[in-house]
Amino acid sequence: MTAPLSDTARAQLPTAPALALLLDVDGPIASPVTRDVKPEIIADLVALAAADIPVIFNTGRSDAFIREQVMAPMIAAGMPQGTTIHAICEKGAVWFSYTATGPGPVHVDHELAVPKAYGDDVRRLVAEDYSAHMFFDETKRAMVSVEQHVDVPSEDYLAEQKLFDADALDIMGRHGLSAAILDHHAPGSDDTADYRLDPTIISTDIESVRLGKDLGASRAVELLAARGIIPQAWRTVGDSRTDYAMADWLHHNDHEVKHVDVRPADGVPVKPYPVLTAADLNLGDDVIHDDAGGAFLRSWREALEI
Ligand SMILES: [Mg+2]
Repeated sequence: MTAPLSDTARAQLPTAPALALLLDVDGPIASPVTRDVKPEIIADLVALAAADIPVIFNTGRSDAFIREQVMAPMIAAGMPQGTTIHAICEKGAVWFSYTATGPGPVHVDHELAVPKAYGDDVRRLVAEDYSAHMFFDETKRAMVSVEQHVDVPSEDYLAEQKLFDADALDIMGRHGLSAAILDHHAPGSDDTADYRLDPTIISTDIESVRLGKDLGASRAVELLAARGIIPQAWRTVGDSRTDYAMADWLHHNDHEVKHVDVRPADGVPVKPYPVLTAADLNLGDDVIHDDAGGAFLRSWREALEI
C-alpha cells in the first residue's frame, strides 16, 4: 500500500494547468478612473485561482497598492486556504506572494532602484509645482512614480504631465544620470540610457531601463517553476503598448501565449502570437479597461467551466 502524500510532497508534484494568467493591474483589473477593482472581477479572480489557474499580477504598482486593492478584497471574498497568488510589482523590482492568511515577505531587487537623492528632488518638485494635478507615490520601493489625482480631469492632467516629465528629465541630468522619455511607438529606443520616464494615462513612472513587463514575465515563470507548475498556455492582459513585453518574452521563450489588449485604441501591433481584443468576445469598441478585462476573466471561467 502506498502511503498518502504529505502536503509538502503534494506541493512538489509537477502540475500543468491549462492556463496561467499574467495580468497588468491598472486598466484591465483596476479602473483607471476610480483606481479600485470591481467586486465581480475580484470574484472571478478568486474562482480562477481556487481552480488552480495561476493568477499572477505584473504591475508597475507598489506592493502596498496590490495588498489594498487586490489582496484584501480577494481574501474578504473567500479565497480558499492553499491558494497562492503571486504579485510582481514595480515592473519586476519588487515581488511577494499571498494566501488567505495574508502576504508573505516582500522581495526587493535594490540594484534596480532609482537613486534616493533623485527621488527626494522629484518629491520636492511635485510639492512645489505640481501638487494640484498629481501626487508622489510614497509606497514605491524601487521606482519613482507620480500619479494623477483622481479628481483632476484627464486632459488637464495629461497637459501638466508633459511639463512635469520635462522637469523630471532635467533633474536626472543634474544628478549626472542618463535618462530618456519612453517613446510609446518605439519600445527599446531608450536602451542607451540608464533610466527611463514612462508616461502612462494616469502617471509617470521613472525607473531603471532594466525594469519592464518582460522582467515581470520571467519572474512569473520562475515563481511557478519553483512550485513545480508549468502552465500549458499563458494569457497576458494589459492596456498599454509596454504590456506586450509580457507576451513577447513568453513567446520568445517558447511558451504558448495569447495577449489581450483592453485598450486597443493605440493600434494593435503585428505580433508572432495572437492578440485578442473585446471584439473577439463580440463586444463593442466602447468596452475597454476593466470592463474588457472583466469580460475576458469571465470568458475563461466559462471556458474552463469553473
Ligand atoms: Mg496598465
